[in-house]
Amino acid sequence: MQVQAMAAHNKSSALEPYNFTRRQPKPHDVQIKIEYCGICHSDIHTVRDEWGGAVYPIVPGHEIVGKVLQVGAKVTRFKPGDQVGVGCFVDSCRTCSPCRDGEEQYCEAGMTATYNAYERDGKTRTQGGYSTGIVVDENYVLRIPEGLPLDRAAPLLCAGITTYSPMKHFGLQPGQKLGVIGLGGLGHMAVQIGHAMGAHVTVFSSSEAKRASASALGAQAYVHSQDQEALQANMATFDLLINTVSAPIDQTMYIQLLKKDGTMAIVGLPDQPTTFVPFPLVLQRRRIAGSLIGGIAETQEMLDFCAQHNISAHIETIPLRDVNIAYERIVHNDIQYRFVIDMSLD
Ligand code: NAP
Ligand code: ZN
Ligand code: ZN
Repeated sequence: MQVQAMAAHNKSSALEPYNFTRRQPKPHDVQIKIEYCGICHSDIHTVRDEWGGAVYPIVPGHEIVGKVLQVGAKVTRFKPGDQVGVGCFVDSCRTCSPCRDGEEQYCEAGMTATYNAYERDGKTRTQGGYSTGIVVDENYVLRIPEGLPLDRAAPLLCAGITTYSPMKHFGLQPGQKLGVIGLGGLGHMAVQIGHAMGAHVTVFSSSEAKRASASALGAQAYVHSQDQEALQANMATFDLLINTVSAPIDQTMYIQLLKKDGTMAIVGLPDQPTTFVPFPLVLQRRRIAGSLIGGIAETQEMLDFCAQHNISAHIETIPLRDVNIAYERIVHNDIQYRFVIDMSLD
């Protein structure tokens, strides 16, 4: 499969057009025509090598949706024409305990990331969704339910599952208080999903610009992170906080927002250490936890949940060639709430 893409060739230059051939399809593979791909902040961290480990060229993109073109002889779950998605990983060892438990993202041998990684053969590079097509093993392909608009569904494959999974894992219940820190791509999915789960949702944002749209997403309260009075009024009231901030910040104030035994799940991945004072953590047996995307089964559950509750991303679509413009706007916090590449735009 010949594809057109945008690739980064080093950590400081803009992405450039790049044509390449996808790996030869195997009997369990699904060939997908990519129609939309969301732009996640992780794409930017990776291509700019902010996390280390970048091997160029890199075609980013792990919020992929499209249609099945062809299937291998042994594929049973998909047929040509099906609406499908691919998220942050395209394979895993399939035998370790997390893989057997459907938590492939925590594979002990390391999941095969959708881009900037190697297939299980250890030598074939993986390349992501800023491209016109992809070849993926059927066990790592998701079904996009009818009724979800395809373009707005793309960000569910990363932003959706990354916020859904900790809400499920940490047992968010109807009527509980959920705080969402940082209202970007992940944050705006967290607000919608938390609201649909019946939680009372408060946004903590460093910006005033999103106050009006936050309530449309389902947030009952909106607190500016410098508003000391509003922060004081919220102390020790939250059951769960989902922290999506992409930059290093001091977490002490957010820890104090938690009730006794409350949890702050950190999903944001800044390249620099974040800090906190241990006292408020210790005194009320509060917890700081991490969470990485979600497994294949849970991602399908999330997609079905979003379809059932009419939840999808709020997006701005762009042609593939405009990804560099989108990157600049994302790092300047100038998007509500997700860029999605539309492969049909020139
Ligand atoms: P995004 O759309 O850029 O949103 C990040 C938000 O963080 C911004 O909208 C902003 O919200 C807040 N923020 C940014 N810089 C800040 C600063 N200097 N001080 C305070 N707040 C700041 O990014 P995203 O795509 O949602 O991704 C968020 C983070 O999650 C990234 O680090 C990404 O790599 C990571 N991530 C992790 C996983 C996982 O599995 N754990 C999955 C996907 C992404 P306000 O304007 O509301 O303050
Ligand atoms: Zn992502
Ligand atoms: Zn494994």
